[in-house]
Amino acid sequence: MNTQTTKILLTSGATQEPIDDVRFLGNRSSGKLGALIAYAAAVGGHEVTLLLGQHAQPPAAHPRLSILPFTTTADLQAQLHALWPDHTLLIMAAAVSDYTPKNNAIKGKITRGTSDILDVQATPDIVAGLSATTSEHQRIIAFALEEAKNLQDRALKKLSSKSVDAIVANPIQTMESDRIEAKVFCKDGAEFSPGECINKATFARWLISNLHEIVKLPNTEV
Ligand code: C5P
Repeated sequence: MNTQTTKILLTSGATQEPIDDVRFLGNRSSGKLGALIAYAAAVGGHEVTLLLGQHAQPPAAHPRLSILPFTTTADLQAQLHALWPDHTLLIMAAAVSDYTPKNNAIKGKITRGTSDILDVQATPDIVAGLSATTSEHQRIIAFALEEAKNLQDRALKKLSSKSVDAIVANPIQTMESDRIEAKVFCKDGAEFSPGECINKATFARWLISNLHEIVKLPNTEV
């Protein structure tokens, strides 16, 4: 096992796209897994910057771990583009909203009966945009949460369409659970599995201990 220190940028939790001053478009990602990965990475000797969504599970405190909050997809995208050049590995565990309301959020609170149509537009694929600006020494791990029957197929498509180095494929049942049944697919065709339905803390430690095998990090010190 390689114990070299890596500057890791990690995202966890979910984006929120405001509809008005009260409601938003979001999803049920709890941020449990991201919090455990952040902590395991810091304990493993890495320098970790965690971008954490609103109401997501925060990690246990650690001196090598700093936390920055994010709200919308646009906010997360701007922060990632600013931070990425100073990091070596991105672990994109956050659940990003596929849509955002058009024409910004409505001020105040929409009252019942005003309109029953929500006009939305697609959000940009943040990780695909980042991978296009990535240098030779940097690596990206993304996540794919899919129904079990389509999991491998969709994960492999995302690995290629997002041009990331590896993708953690996990079924929808992972959401809000304390356990995960994951497989990691790498762009060189390698596959890794930590074992059947393990608890998320065990998975987080496994991922961090196997980073060098999974993404073939070059030997660059912090
Ligand atoms: O939502 P989807 O299954 O496409 O997410 C796969 C990966 O892409 C995740 O790592 C997620 O954080 C990232 N993603 C993104 N920007 C989006 C949607 C997803 O970076 N708009």
